[in-house]
Amino acid sequence: MEHIVFIDRDGVINMDSPDYIKSRSEFEFIPRSPEAIALLTQKGFDVIVITNQSVIGRKMITQETLDAIFQKMKVGVKKAGGKIKDIFFCPHTPRENCSCRKPNPGLILDAQKKYQISLDQSCLVGDSAKDIECALNAGCAKTVLVKTGNGPKAQQELSCKGISPDYIALDLYEAACWIIENVKP
Ligand SMILES: [Mg+2]
Ligand SMILES: [Zn+2]
Repeated sequence: MEHIVFIDRDGVINMDSPDYIKSRSEFEFIPRSPEAIALLTQKGFDVIVITNQSVIGRKMITQETLDAIFQKMKVGVKKAGGKIKDIFFCPHTPRENCSCRKPNPGLILDAQKKYQISLDQSCLVGDSAKDIECALNAGCAKTVLVKTGNGPKAQQELSCKGISPDYIALDLYEAACWIIENVKP
């Protein structure tokens, strides 16, 4: 049985930018985020990153560059003692109306198929309303919104839509601590 924590990338693991993350050097960890993933790994959770990367569809970066950025993330997490089990990303622009761009549940459903995940025992950490909505659309048991990145704006958007995340955390580290206490691994 896999116990999965789905984590959004930009604004949760690394600093987000309105200009997108287009190179390895633009990828900067938010403080304590590698340690947060290490904590989850050590407590028996599997971490899967799910991320919208329309920079590919917008032809702003190549697949090779995106892979290099993912590599920097994986190496940084590994150095802290954690592991990213897999990464699922949507390369499309909003205009393409794909089924994988969050808030659509495609990325989580792809992960579920690949790893036979029980979504009713999985949770998601994100900084945007579309992350939380994606988790609800896919049937994840628990959702955590972080206050880093887009979090403050997302809090307002979600409350307008009548959606309440199970927990609102300061950052990924606090989210990990909450998950360890509140979701059985
Ligand atoms: Mg984000
Ligand atoms: Zn897509």
